[in-house]
Amino acid sequence: MDFPTRYDVIVIGGGHAGTEAALASARIGAKTLLLTHNIETLGQMSCNPAIGGIGKSHLVKEIDALDGAMARATDKGGIQFRTLNSRKGPAVRATRAQADRILYKAAIRHILENQDNLDIFQQSADDLITEGEAVRGVVTQTGIRFHANSVVLTAGTFLGGVIHIGLENHSGGRAGDPPSIALADRLRELPFRVDRLKTGTPPRIDARSVDFSVMQEQPGDTPTPVMSYMGKLTDHPQQISCYITHTNERTHEILRSGLDRSPMYTGVIEGVGPRYCPSIEDKIMRFADKDQHQVFVEPEGLTTHELYPNGISTSLPFDIQLAAVQSIRGFENAHIVRPGYAIEYDFFNPQDLKHTLETKYMNGLFFAGQINGTTGYEEAGAQGLLAGANAALRSLEKAQWYPRRDEAYIGVLVDDLITLGTSEPYRMFTSRAEYRLILREDNADLRLTEKGRELGLVGEERWQAFCNKREAIEQEQQRLKSTWILPKTPEADELAPKLKTPLTREYNLADLLKRPELVYSDLAHLKGEGVSDEQVAEQVEIQNKYEGYISRQKDEIEQMRRQENTPLPEDFDYEKVGGLSNELKAKLQEVRPATIAQASRIQGITPAAISLLLVYLKKQQ
Ligand code: FAD
Repeated sequence: MDFPTRYDVIVIGGGHAGTEAALASARIGAKTLLLTHNIETLGQMSCNPAIGGIGKSHLVKEIDALDGAMARATDKGGIQFRTLNSRKGPAVRATRAQADRILYKAAIRHILENQDNLDIFQQSADDLITEGEAVRGVVTQTGIRFHANSVVLTAGTFLGGVIHIGLENHSGGRAGDPPSIALADRLRELPFRVDRLKTGTPPRIDARSVDFSVMQEQPGDTPTPVMSYMGKLTDHPQQISCYITHTNERTHEILRSGLDRSPMYTGVIEGVGPRYCPSIEDKIMRFADKDQHQVFVEPEGLTTHELYPNGISTSLPFDIQLAAVQSIRGFENAHIVRPGYAIEYDFFNPQDLKHTLETKYMNGLFFAGQINGTTGYEEAGAQGLLAGANAALRSLEKAQWYPRRDEAYIGVLVDDLITLGTSEPYRMFTSRAEYRLILREDNADLRLTEKGRELGLVGEERWQAFCNKREAIEQEQQRLKSTWILPKTPEADELAPKLKTPLTREYNLADLLKRPELVYSDLAHLKGEGVSDEQVAEQVEIQNKYEGYISRQKDEIEQMRRQENTPLPEDFDYEKVGGLSNELKAKLQEVRPATIAQASRIQGITPAAISLLLVYLKKQQ
């Protein structure tokens, strides 16, 4: 039989984690198999067809910087793009795109099907082949045995998945897809800590039954942002608007009347749901004083009438869903095309993982995505890329890699998961990154692309574009530093109306750019040409404007790295450290770490706790 069954890496699951994992592994040069239930659902968005947003776009740009697929697919599938927090500082600025789910999926499939070293096979993985404490391959539903020394599991919400609508429930991986029962049972036999989480989705609505004229229109931004560093405006399909409406007292009354048939409020669902993406029944209970909640009415695509009403995720019985929806302004005659539902699924305690996302108890087995307790496509994609890359590096006997917390949001994500664990679906926020001034979405390529190239993740086209960009930034910085403006010259006169304080001496353009009242375009053309590439101009502007803050943060990082090796005395009395919680004091007393680095790896010890230890140590000297 001429059918390949031996690979370097096998990836189970073709969702957001699985596709990035398979692509990363194949880009590195490992012979890779992507084994998934259904080829038609490669890159399928189980919930809202939107990519990015605060904290999440940082992950997407990092995936992009390492030549992953998510940002490029978003540019091909995005039908409404916005820059969030555009008036705030660059650290918290974020790009969000509403996507046409069909175009997005097609773009992902196109990238997968054109990737060298990658085979795709449609079938359920039902068992793992193991040998002692090492994984050796996968057995499919029909008994085909695929062999590999590294396996990446990215089964999403499918492991032991149970779908709930009211008090009715049935097994499922997500609506319309089968669950993974055999594999879930097999994994429960291994020494991993397994628990249950839940997530939910709103009912979908037929746009032809909606009155948009009473809703607030929300067009995309102009100029339209792009998601990928390689993205062009011409990649985008037609752009369309989203709309905003609100729930009201009547809606809340209807929802309350269904709580006695709510799987959440009657205790049928035991898994914890995403705190920052709560169901509407959760919102009316938790924020009982609010008389309305916003509903973003988002198109699911250009070729469908289906709408995603963002903000009313629910698992209440269908009759309640329908009445609640029809009580909302503009939805009075709404036709629901798919009911909302909640899903409960198995996840593994991520504290049983290494930073590379390899499991501690089974060599060569990597976990990525929703199964590690996260929620969101971006979080899944980022983990997938990291796990896939490390699975490949391991199989090819090369050194593995993971970014530190000060290098990437991917580093923050993984470090948070494996040191702190999670008891609720984890999503990314900029506030989770203590070095967020350095980890911006505009500079993910400058932080990661060179490393990605070294690892074999970044292809020639991106590498060339990146090198050109980096050189252009460098050259423009030099030009700004060496271009001087003297008072009482035509250039100074041109600037004068914009200046808060007039020029009294000679300034170079880089120093002038630090002034809050001036932007790059005010200065670029003075005594020269300036750059036209928007990404280069943005970088030059941010690097100059925030130079002071950025270099202070770099110093902090340097200091932190040096302090990692600081010894902690054996008789250290943690009780005396002000500001530490009793729980952390007890943990430190118990473990008695030898160094700050070891202390920082203890479950629950946060960077803030480390700072307290360091301050205390300093006072003792
Ligand atoms: P998935 O996208 O679930 O992909 C898993 C893939 O693995 C699928 O292709 C599946 O077919 C395949 N697979 C599973 N088991 C096997 C097997 N044994 N053999 C072969 N293939 C297998 N995220 C948010 O951020 N906000 C939300 O509000 C939100 N709501 C959600 C609501 C619902 C109902 C669901 C289902 C998901 C929701 N999500 C939400 C989560 C989001 O969909 C996931 O975070 C994301 O899809 C996770 O990506 P993943 O790759 O880990 O898994």
